[in-house]
Amino acid sequence: QKAEWEKLKNEKTVSKDGVHFDLAANIGTPDDLQGVLDNGGEAVGLFRSEFLYMNASELPSEDEQFEAYKKVVEGMNGKQVVVRTMDIGGDKELPYLPLPEEMNPFLGYRAIRISLDRTDLFRTQLRALLRASAFGKLAIMFPMIATVAEFKKARAIYDDERQKMVDAGQEVGEIQVGMMMEIPAAAMIADKLARYVDFFSIGTNDLIQYSFAADRGNEKVSYLYQPYNPSLLRLIKQTIDASHAEGKWTGMCGEMAGDQIAVPILMGLGLDEFSMSATSILKTRSLMKKLTTDDMKKLAEKAVTEAETNEDVIKLVQETVDNI
Ligand code: PEP
Ligand code: MG
Repeated sequence: QKAEWEKLKNEKTVSKDGVHFDLAANIGTPDDLQGVLDNGGEAVGLFRSEFLYMNASELPSEDEQFEAYKKVVEGMNGKQVVVRTMDIGGDKELPYLPLPEEMNPFLGYRAIRISLDRTDLFRTQLRALLRASAFGKLAIMFPMIATVAEFKKARAIYDDERQKMVDAGQEVGEIQVGMMMEIPAAAMIADKLARYVDFFSIGTNDLIQYSFAADRGNEKVSYLYQPYNPSLLRLIKQTIDASHAEGKWTGMCGEMAGDQIAVPILMGLGLDEFSMSATSILKTRSLMKKLTTDDMKKLAEKAVTEAETNEDVIKLVQETVDNI
């Protein structure tokens, strides 16, 4: 099987009926790039930029960040790199940036909420990203957006920094600006958000945690990690459909994007980009080549409308995919 996957390394990802999907990789540091290239990644769908902050003993400077982003976009040779602005807080702490103790860190001061409050840190990161955009194909996304107002505020700060650079004669590239879909309230108004974003990237690790009100790290409630539950599939479908209605695209960068039960359904729902750990890419490409989007659309429709439970959906997929 490994040998069969190896042959797919330099191929595009196409379904049996010729529809192309982007298979991208999630990375934490520039050192992860080799793994992406070795596994035939078509893009970087999530660069978790907070690793730059977590691996340092003090706040990384604009230049240090610029060098890291530049290395990644250059390393990808013109393929897209989606950088997520820092997602600190929740379970990710920085020793040099003390955050207030909170009863519910996952529901508290984290991610874009910190960036919109500490705009000094946010602007530094955006400037580093803008400078790096001159060296390849860079996109930016904001984590944990809950409302239209948050996205507009974040985008306005980005636009302001961009304008300042352009005015100063600094070279900047075309950058798509999107958001992660990780909060049910945001998914419910995906149609509104779709007007303002260039793309969505569904962060299912958090979207599942918040949808089922079950801490993603707590084993006692891990049975509520239900990626195939129709409730979650509906939020995903709504997000994808809303983006397409506005001529935008939707990716997924949570664990679910590389899950072999989920992939057939996600193809059927019309997900445009799948971003996963590099080691899952070839296996997923091989699976997708065997499936037709027509069959997967029918499967997804059943999963969203007829199934009642996570288990129902697993059964549906197993029946369908075995019969192909
Ligand atoms: C997610 O929430 O699905 C995601 C990709 O982000 P992280 O796992 O870094 O929270
Ligand atoms: Mg997340």
